[in-house]
Amino acid sequence: MKIIMLGAPGAGKGTQAIMIADKYGIPHISTGDIFRANIKNNTELGQEAKKYMDQGLLVPDELTVKILLDRVAKDDCKNGYVLDGFPRTIPQAEVLEDALNKLNDAVDYAIDVNVPDENIIKRMGGRRACVKCGATYHIEHVPPKKEGICDNCGEALVLRDDDKPETVKNRLDVYHKQTQPLIDFYSQKGILKTVDGTMDMKDVFGAITDILG
Ligand code: ADP
Ligand code: AMP
Repeated sequence: MKIIMLGAPGAGKGTQAIMIADKYGIPHISTGDIFRANIKNNTELGQEAKKYMDQGLLVPDELTVKILLDRVAKDDCKNGYVLDGFPRTIPQAEVLEDALNKLNDAVDYAIDVNVPDENIIKRMGGRRACVKCGATYHIEHVPPKKEGICDNCGEALVLRDDDKPETVKNRLDVYHKQTQPLIDFYSQKGILKTVDGTMDMKDVFGAITDILG
């Protein structure tokens, strides 16, 4: 099963993608996590990506597409995957479609986690992230067992640089201009499913599993 998660930054794509990956036994692939791991390890790719991420801009398609195609070619992706944060532009979606076409394959579902901008702005300031394992918490809705520490791996949690209020506003603008058109793109392909992302995260997951079966 090949699934794409659509939705604004902070809509809950990552939260849901982790649960989907666990239930259906497929890898969760987040281009944002891949970039953050590279920034943490100070790789060349990380240095390049950081310039864009810190401003709330998208990393250029050429860089992002290469990373994604390398990742989905790995053995663990044979039975599918859930993509979180990719594609974010129409050209990215077209590259993925062409790559899958060549394998006589296609994306099965594009799930749009729908959350209005007002809710997003409230959520982002409370998000705390683990840069080591990719886990995400929220200081009110999803607190870790021990304040500031990741439940999974014990790493210190951080407020992402790009979750600061001025950057969140840019990211929402970028989302509406560059990423939202993907909703029409996948709707035309007949694989778009929309869920109400303002519900409690368990109810959002219930709506998603009703779709996926
Ligand atoms: P995205 O991957 O779309 O950027 P996240 O999954 O990281 O979003 O979620 C953004 C923040 O909102 C996180 O702090 C997360 O814990 C919290 N969150 C996710 N889903 C919900 C929900 N249904 N209700 C309330 N808070 C949520
Ligand atoms: P995320 O963790 O998905 O919120 O992504 C964080 C940041 O990484 C984004 O704001 C972008 O700067 C960058 N990024 C992640 N995925 C992509 C993508 N598919 N295309 C371009 N930039 C991306």
